[in-house]
Amino acid sequence: MNGPEIERLIQLLGRLPGLGPRSARRATLHLRKRRETLMQPLAAALADAARAIRPCSTCGNLDTVDPCSICSDPGRDRGLICVVEDVGDLWAMERGRIFGGCYHVLGGSLSALDGIGPDELNIAGLVKRLGAGDVREVILATNATVDGQTTAHYLADRLAELGVPLTRLAHGVPVGGELDWLDEGTLATALKARRAL
Ligand SMILES: [Zn+2]
Repeated sequence: MNGPEIERLIQLLGRLPGLGPRSARRATLHLRKRRETLMQPLAAALADAARAIRPCSTCGNLDTVDPCSICSDPGRDRGLICVVEDVGDLWAMERGRIFGGCYHVLGGSLSALDGIGPDELNIAGLVKRLGAGDVREVILATNATVDGQTTAHYLADRLAELGVPLTRLAHGVPVGGELDWLDEGTLATALKARRAL
């Protein structure tokens, strides 16, 4: 039987996506064996991140500064906004260094099943940004899943009256595909071949 601290660690790690109880136990043992080189730095990194990371009030990206480093980068094209579901999708776009515009993170996708409606997503913030003018194009880069497509259709309807041209990633992306799983070449092609809605 393990002590309560170890049990607690296993339980918490087991709540991470992709880690079940078995992986959580392995991770805990691994951490314990590398106390100085991994466990303590990880604990410090978690504490720092929990304290410092906040969502950008403009785009919803996570950063330690607000506005985030992308929104405040003068080299970024503010006229081009790529709408993604989650910060992980933004990271996928950034990994490939294929996009020089700005982002808008919705915080998920519309889902009748999970009871997520438009009010649960950061859509009002997007409408407000577009209302301020000077946006030339909005790229809807929600995932090629049923919920992602539903969200893109909803946004296309909702944003139509604002008169900003909308495009959608040309999903060379397999149906059901999520941005985070795409290799950078596929993502770059999908971005380049985006089509008007
Ligand atoms: Zn931002």
